Amino acid sequence: MAERIAEEKINQIRQSVDIVELISEYVQLKKQGRNYFGLCPFHGENSPSFSVSTDKQIYHCFGCGAGGNVFSFLMELEGITFLEAAVKLAEKANIDLQVNFSANGKGKSVSPELQSMLDAHELLQKFYHHLLVNTKDGQHALEYLLNRGFTRESIDKFQIGYSLNSWDFGYKFLTKRDFSPELMEKAGLIIKRERDGTYFDRFRDRIMFPISDRNGNTIAFSGRSLGADEPKYLNSPETVIFNKSKILYNFHLAKPSIRKLQQAVLFEGFADVIAADKSGVENGIATMGTSLTEEHITLIRQNTQSITICFDSDKAGIEAAFRAGNMLIDAGCSIKVAMMPDGLDPDEYIKKNGPEKFRNEVISASLTWMAFKFLYFRRGKNLQIEGDRLAYIETILKEISKLTKAVEKDHYLRQLASEFSISLEALQQQLKQVFFTEKRKSNGQTPPVNKPSTFVKQEKRLPLAHFTAERRLIAHMLKDRDTAYKVQDLLQGNTFNTDEHQAIITYLIGFYEEHMNPDSSAFLTYIQDGNLRRIVADIEMMSVNDELSSQELNDYIKQVLNYQKLLKIKEKEVELKEAERQSDYSQAAAIATEIKQLRKSL
Ligand SMILES: [Zn+2]
Repeated sequence: MAERIAEEKINQIRQSVDIVELISEYVQLKKQGRNYFGLCPFHGENSPSFSVSTDKQIYHCFGCGAGGNVFSFLMELEGITFLEAAVKLAEKANIDLQVNFSANGKGKSVSPELQSMLDAHELLQKFYHHLLVNTKDGQHALEYLLNRGFTRESIDKFQIGYSLNSWDFGYKFLTKRDFSPELMEKAGLIIKRERDGTYFDRFRDRIMFPISDRNGNTIAFSGRSLGADEPKYLNSPETVIFNKSKILYNFHLAKPSIRKLQQAVLFEGFADVIAADKSGVENGIATMGTSLTEEHITLIRQNTQSITICFDSDKAGIEAAFRAGNMLIDAGCSIKVAMMPDGLDPDEYIKKNGPEKFRNEVISASLTWMAFKFLYFRRGKNLQIEGDRLAYIETILKEISKLTKAVEKDHYLRQLASEFSISLEALQQQLKQVFFTEKRKSNGQTPPVNKPSTFVKQEKRLPLAHFTAERRLIAHMLKDRDTAYKVQDLLQGNTFNTDEHQAIITYLIGFYEEHMNPDSSAFLTYIQDGNLRRIVADIEMMSVNDELSSQELNDYIKQVLNYQKLLKIKEKEVELKEAERQSDYSQAAAIATEIKQLRKSL
């Protein structure tokens, strides 16, 4: 995309979209004083550290440091470019951008190559579906599906189709429509023969399940064999448009329901999602043959914090549920586990017991995360044997000690006490011990395990005086153009000690050359660097006095400049020691005088 949007258009968009309104579509915000607060959509947390300022039209998270304006919010949240964010926001504000996009009708702009891959998938998906439901060639496949309990409704909803039993039907279909074979191979739709460089279809004689991205574009397929052909499910390979670690099956269709119910149901496979949807569970999603990733979790958390895991109850399923649950808990989600009885998968269960029972006795009757762990740690243990029993109680106590709510702790202690006929007091006593042992362990070298791995909290050491002074100066410079120039004069060619701070004031002076008035949100658009943008948003959220007295101003400047002198003194002290060591006393005396003068000037 070579298109650029005129700056006045960008300003018009920024002024027409209210940041609180925009962010409220993704985050529940509560007003507190002048600002709004909510749970950060960019990292897992249980108490709100994400704030939005109406006055400044910016947001900032004190937990992970995310920050910016309406543009950067959409860019970071949806993983899109500035241009794409501008298009989305312009649509919201009914502003005509008059930008020529090779659009796929969803307000997204992508490269011609990606667009061609998407177009090919969409064409094939429509054609496969048509073959399945309307043609003689697909009749046996349709019957196969209907016999297995698929309804016409879900076949249409999930756009299920059929690929012909032919080596090159898809290849011909696409090349006739001018799709480049090289590109279609990259898209995973056709495969090149080593021996003669000709192509053949990846999917032949299979039931075709389209896989969509979050915007509803078909980006891959899973093909199920009708007979004994292996593999039973053949998936598209990873391609530039199909990244398994980011894709959740059915996400675009389930999203409205997930947001409405504030609940998502995570299934093990996409077939479970379709079966559950048939019985009225429309908020189901599944990974595409990979385990859950941080990217999946971020996507879910942007829509709800509450997830029900419904995996098969075989060994692999239970282990996978335990892993997924722990990851989600670490990301600050609340988890329930819906246990499938008797080793059935959701489809088999629904066939046997009907949709109502599935909704009421599996999904609605799901276990709390702790109750699931009671069962999880019990597996493979014989609780009749004392050793097993004690080990089990110890493990459960460890888990209980991690709970934060006293009521919950009490509840599970009582459950444990009554199950093993132990006195509650004895368990409480032991719980205290477990708590201290665990605490001592976590105070050692081992990092705390229940912290989201990708979001390392910023170091909480006390900032140095010059660092704080620089931030306060920037805060005032952001508010007032004259102050910005005054600070620049007072620095007399010296720079700030923190590189990022210096970069910010360089940007800021540049901004003031072009703009007469301060404008927090406009300035954030002006800064190209995401990291600097976050720091500016952080500084914007600092509360500083409206007026900056010249006394205060001079103090801050002094702290900035003093730090450079202190560094110089340290340097000189090293030189002094060296001179003394070499018994060069005249040199040492000269350096000592220099140090004295530097100290005096502080
Ligand atoms: Zn955050």
